[in-house]
Amino acid sequence: MRQRTIAKNIEIQGKGLHTGKGSSLLLKPSPENSGVVFLRTDQPGSVPIPARIDWLDKAERCTAIGKFPNVVMTVEHLMAALYGIGISNVCVEIKGDEVPALDGSAAPFVKFLEDAGIIEQDEPEAELFVDKPVWCGRKDSLIFAVPARELRITYVAKFNHPLVGTQMLELAITPESFKKEIAPSRTFGFWEEVQGLWNRNLALGGDLENAILIMENSYSTPLRFEDEVVRHKMLDMVGDIALLGSPLRAHIIAVKGSHSLNMEFLKILQSKEGADAEHPGDFKNSSSPVSFYSGGQNS
Ligand SMILES: [Zn+2]
Repeated sequence: MRQRTIAKNIEIQGKGLHTGKGSSLLLKPSPENSGVVFLRTDQPGSVPIPARIDWLDKAERCTAIGKFPNVVMTVEHLMAALYGIGISNVCVEIKGDEVPALDGSAAPFVKFLEDAGIIEQDEPEAELFVDKPVWCGRKDSLIFAVPARELRITYVAKFNHPLVGTQMLELAITPESFKKEIAPSRTFGFWEEVQGLWNRNLALGGDLENAILIMENSYSTPLRFEDEVVRHKMLDMVGDIALLGSPLRAHIIAVKGSHSLNMEFLKILQSKEGADAEHPGDFKNSSSPVSFYSGGQNS
């Protein structure tokens, strides 16, 4: 598998799900080994923010990266789209502090990226393999990973709500399955929670165009999938996995995950010294649960 970038610049405008403020993106092709990097062009002198777990700001209700005030919120749906269709290198210039929500899913981002065209680069993509079981959990939530040759996710979403209840989905994440089964699933929120989010200045941009509101007995909009909730949980997880900076090969089982538990899990994957996607050949630490492999049987 080779690294890939976009063929030309892409402009995207919209409003943020949490801030409700307008923002605009300019995605630009990037050279090999540069990864996905955000740059706040509305703040003079801002330093680039690599879309990497080490640059995590916080993971409450959305994933934000950077160091205050140089922060970009809600990167996960765009990151999922990039990871899902296999784009390794892109510079994301942003005017504003939150990635536009668009329709609340990753599908519009996938369309923008594919319409621009995708270019294969010369360098192979370093892949990240899990060598042994890795897990983390808290209360009734768990994320567990075992070795596998592909990224496969088994997701169990459980909500104490009669319309949603328990939803389970297992999927090997390929560009085809991501686009068809995961990307169109939208952000959702429970009506009784929304007011609490507003009080905390979250979900201010949420509306009937970019989120599914789950009321006591009904949804605010026709669903795109009967189990759209678990599919969106999987979408968010793919977007968070993208912060590893390399394609992950593992079978992940997640029960009642969240952005913050995803981050805890990713930090465990990266916990040992030496895990460095830019220099896969330098990886020597046998005590780490992960190893890098560059340009091999999956290419
Ligand atoms: Zn989401």
